[in-house]
Amino acid sequence: MIKIHSIESLGTFDGPGIRLVFFLQGCNFKCLYCANPDTINFSGGKEYEAEALLQMAVRQRPFFGKRGGVTVSGGEPLMQANDLIGLFGQLKQEGINTCIDTNGSILTSQVKELLKLNDLVLLDIKHIDPDKHSRLTATSNSRTMAFAEYLAGQGHTAWVRYVLVPGYTDDEADMHALGRRLATMSNVEKFEIQPYHKLGVHKYESLGWEYRLNNVPANTPEQLRKAKSIFEKYVKEVVIN
Ligand code: SF4
Repeated sequence: MIKIHSIESLGTFDGPGIRLVFFLQGCNFKCLYCANPDTINFSGGKEYEAEALLQMAVRQRPFFGKRGGVTVSGGEPLMQANDLIGLFGQLKQEGINTCIDTNGSILTSQVKELLKLNDLVLLDIKHIDPDKHSRLTATSNSRTMAFAEYLAGQGHTAWVRYVLVPGYTDDEADMHALGRRLATMSNVEKFEIQPYHKLGVHKYESLGWEYRLNNVPANTPEQLRKAKSIFEKYVKEVVIN
């Protein structure tokens, strides 16, 4: 059984083309800017048989076109890697493209098995600096960077995603440091800058949690342009999502 928070049909944000996106319940990070804090607690969500998810994907295949397919996001989908292996095996047999959107903190033998069945990883790198990463996510970035190195070693295609949070992740020296690291990874096809937003704040209120970035403003166009110009020095394709 796979624990799902929500399902999006015809998604255009999480991977190439038009996609069916399964947002899995449960996350091992607690990012200060998380827009979906209701996915963090593993005790929520609804359980689905892999077969039911496969049938949804098969029914939606006509919409996928040449590039689309299925994305698992979250939450942190690799917390349920073992249960995803069967689904991904069947999706592969059906010729349906797959993406995993992950914070890269879990690299078990099951995750390695799952990656063999997967087409593209959307790797969320929150910060290159270990201390600043801890401040932002309550967790070290060492596992995420080891995951990035593993993907590079395997030649597994990856797009890196980076939330540009004013005062937290937009320091130029940090962005250059991340860029230099990514420049050594020929598997990284694309870098997505995700502007910081507060769309999930009302969910914090419903959960009774404090939203600690209330004083952080949205990015200015200039900040976004600056970040893009920095990462373009290191990665072949950089987009602002
Ligand atoms: S890794 Fe993603 S889902 Fe988990 S807390 Fe951070 S932003 Fe939210």
